[in-house]
Amino acid sequence: MAEIEHIPVVEETENPLESMKSRFNEAASLLEIDEDTYNLLITPSKEIKVNLPVAMDDGRVKVFEGYRVIHSTYLGPSKGGIRYAPYVNIDEVKALAAWMSFKSAIVGIPFGGAKGGINCNPAELSKGELERLTRAYTLALADVFGPDSDIPAPDVGTDGQVMAWLLDEYSRKVGKSSPAVVTGKPLFLGGSLGRVDATGRGVMISTLAALDKLGLNPKNVSAAVQGFGNVGSVSARLLSEQGIKIKGISDVSGGYYNEDGINIPEAIKYYLAHKFNLTGFPGAQPVSNEELLTMNVDVLVPAAIENQITHKNASDIKAKLIVEGANGPTSASADLILKEKGILVVPDVLANAGGVTVSYFEWVQNRMGYYWPIEMVNERADRIMKEAFETVFKVREKYKTNMRIAAYIVAIDKIAQAMKLRGKF
Ligand code: NAD
Repeated sequence: MAEIEHIPVVEETENPLESMKSRFNEAASLLEIDEDTYNLLITPSKEIKVNLPVAMDDGRVKVFEGYRVIHSTYLGPSKGGIRYAPYVNIDEVKALAAWMSFKSAIVGIPFGGAKGGINCNPAELSKGELERLTRAYTLALADVFGPDSDIPAPDVGTDGQVMAWLLDEYSRKVGKSSPAVVTGKPLFLGGSLGRVDATGRGVMISTLAALDKLGLNPKNVSAAVQGFGNVGSVSARLLSEQGIKIKGISDVSGGYYNEDGINIPEAIKYYLAHKFNLTGFPGAQPVSNEELLTMNVDVLVPAAIENQITHKNASDIKAKLIVEGANGPTSASADLILKEKGILVVPDVLANAGGVTVSYFEWVQNRMGYYWPIEMVNERADRIMKEAFETVFKVREKYKTNMRIAAYIVAIDKIAQAMKLRGKF
């Protein structure tokens, strides 16, 4: 299960939708897109709210609010995860849906973008309640979801089991097995080899590409990783396998520091054995999450939640390189400070796009009914990530901007071209 025991609280002062829009505006003005294109791309194409009655174990019926936002379908069916968390709100889902459109465009896969969420605390729900909630959400959105229309996946608070229930409910509704309606499935049900590691692997590939641009050898570099769930723990493991010394890791319980480098496989074992919690990990000294972000390391990988690097702490960051494993970890105001400090930031829409890339491979394999070996998945995903990094890096130089705005420029340009070719109205 993606982390459900410790549901993170998002800082309310920073609205991810506003952050997304301010970057979008900057990229759109550098790209000089026309007003019609701007209006069509800044607004999601569909916003759906559903009220989901669920029979609780104690006999009551509770109504949960669920959302699905489809940002765009110009490049293909919309694709994006489902988040179960108590802080889920429509603005967050709208921002995440737009980021999914941008991500798919940046890595050049034929998908648009969407995101879904249910306002709930999965840690407080029994397995049966979670299943009934997932089935209610799937049924309410059965006309929206589909292998050729809108394809969900896991996000914070959901996992392969939730995707299996979604697949089952959808297949019952349409009267046939339909594995390509959802990705991030367990392997038995048509999941892809390599999907679990895919986002962290993309973070590793992006980090190596960025270190190369900075003229730094990974063997002489240290890093801190915030968040130790799917993205953080895999990123930390794969970066350490590249010779990078991981001096700091963290989860919702706090940060952990070891000047000589943390043994990441040991930390992962500890985290899993202690119900997704690093408290008491003997291989490092405890520090706060705030200290972790401003640690004296070369590379910082925020891989937890939104708004961790803000105007309050950006000027204290010592890393030369930030690689965003999480979605939206840096606020728009912090970007300006990081740019002034000359810190290279590989933005979320590029750095964590390995996940949607292998989700695309999963969808392709489901449609072919033929499954690829892990070597083929990794080799193809690595190539896509490297090419996307180089494309964004070149656009950054062309427009004399930062990597984030360059990534938005690449995305907006591709989606706008697709929209124009299709005809706008
Ligand atoms: P997860 O639930 O598996 O893990 C989240 C981790 O963050 C946990 O270790 C948790 O303890 C920690 N955490 C929570 N609040 C924290 C805080 N305030 N400070 C420090 N750590 C904190 O989630 P995940 O799948 O690893 O996703 C993490 C981020 O990456 C999210 O922003 C998600 O949208 C994004 N993302 C995930 C994928 C994917 O494939 N899983 C793909 C792209 C982007």
